[in-house]
Amino acid sequence: MITTSSFKTTQSEEIFNAAQNLMPGGVSSPVRAFKSVGGQPIVFDRVNGAYIWDVDGNQYIDYVGTWGPAICGHAHPEVIAALHDALEKGTSFGAPSVLENVLASMVIEAVPSIEMVRFVNSGTEACMAVIRLMRAFTGRDKIIKFAGCYHGHADMLLVQAGSGVATLGLPDSPGVPKSATASTLTATYNDLEGVKSLFEANPDSISGVILEPVVGNSGFITPDAGFLEGLRLLTQEYGALLVFDEVMTGFRIAYGGAQEKFGVTPDLTTLGKVIGGGLPVGAYGGRKDIMSMVAPAGPMYQAGTLSGNPLAMTAGIKTLELLQKPGTYEYLDRITKKLSNGLLQIAKETGHAATGGHISAMFGMFFTSEPVHNYDDAKKSDLAKFSRFHRGMLERGIYLAPSQFEAGFTSLAHTEEDINRTLEAAKEVMSM
Ligand SMILES: *Cc1c(COP(=O)(O)O)cnc(C)c1O
Repeated sequence: MITTSSFKTTQSEEIFNAAQNLMPGGVSSPVRAFKSVGGQPIVFDRVNGAYIWDVDGNQYIDYVGTWGPAICGHAHPEVIAALHDALEKGTSFGAPSVLENVLASMVIEAVPSIEMVRFVNSGTEACMAVIRLMRAFTGRDKIIKFAGCYHGHADMLLVQAGSGVATLGLPDSPGVPKSATASTLTATYNDLEGVKSLFEANPDSISGVILEPVVGNSGFITPDAGFLEGLRLLTQEYGALLVFDEVMTGFRIAYGGAQEKFGVTPDLTTLGKVIGGGLPVGAYGGRKDIMSMVAPAGPMYQAGTLSGNPLAMTAGIKTLELLQKPGTYEYLDRITKKLSNGLLQIAKETGHAATGGHISAMFGMFFTSEPVHNYDDAKKSDLAKFSRFHRGMLERGIYLAPSQFEAGFTSLAHTEEDINRTLEAAKEVMSM
């Protein structure tokens, strides 16, 4: 791919170089560092609607949306106005506020499985807590997760386990003791038989199954017909809980998340990203009898100084209000379909093997000729080609997630014109 002469990122480079002496890898979260696509990250100056401006003044159409929260577009004027009002009343109470009731009611009304909810500060926290709750409620220690599903960085969930160590629960990161992951069993996404075998081998010790009902953290991978339904039946048969990690999919692939979209109701659900409207929030919720285990209603301890803070609640409430407007998800589906179909069509015309798709405002494309049903399939895609594609798009003002193993996100702020511009850029890049 050829560097366009007008693309200059000298300020970004200076700032990022300085950052590398100040913070590990120069970032506050690893994937921001562009390690998997090469080159240096651009440093953002501001975001608005569907756009990003970097510190060199370049403008981009954004398909990362701060990794999911920006479904209404960045810095939506109504969210910003609500935050201004909330700010006047203070930034943190550390005591109950009516805003928590409002957002809790909205979440309970929207998400089929949720009868009660606890707010936390991140998706990681929500997943950590939900594992503790699964164990507390069932009195069993083991959990099943799927290779390629991300549930935050808590010790017992940092297991992806390649095929050789599939069920051994070996940790992915140094510093995670074997004891922390010894109770984590790993299965292959979309492989119901594999999950069944794990249950047969451990009939009385598995507390439950946690998964991304639609995967976004090994690229965009959808559940095969019957997979979610099968997990629902298996968990019921063995007295285990089914947990949907909807931190990414919640309020994104449908207002009520994947559970609404696919009509499968889990026992517990984790949320984050969209429900914080761009501020740090996570949540977990589910059946009332299970949630009643959580302190102070019950004995399972979990707490947070800033949990349910008024700014995050305000941004979340306003964001969900905007999403409730008629036609929202139809619009998101329409523009995302245009983008996803367009990219696949261009790949075909320019002779690149590619597969992909979308659900509502979530999409993905792998550079591979085979269909992708799980993480192992995803890993067969042409990563070098993705890196060149990513760079070519960046230089043409299109900001994609800097990894083949990330889903893409659209927002209500993306226009048909933005999609057209994106497809024109893709055509140029893929023709080279
Ligand atoms: C982002 C994400 C998390 C972690 O959320 P953080 O807020 O980054 O801690 C957990 N699960 C899924 C499915 C996610 O996409």
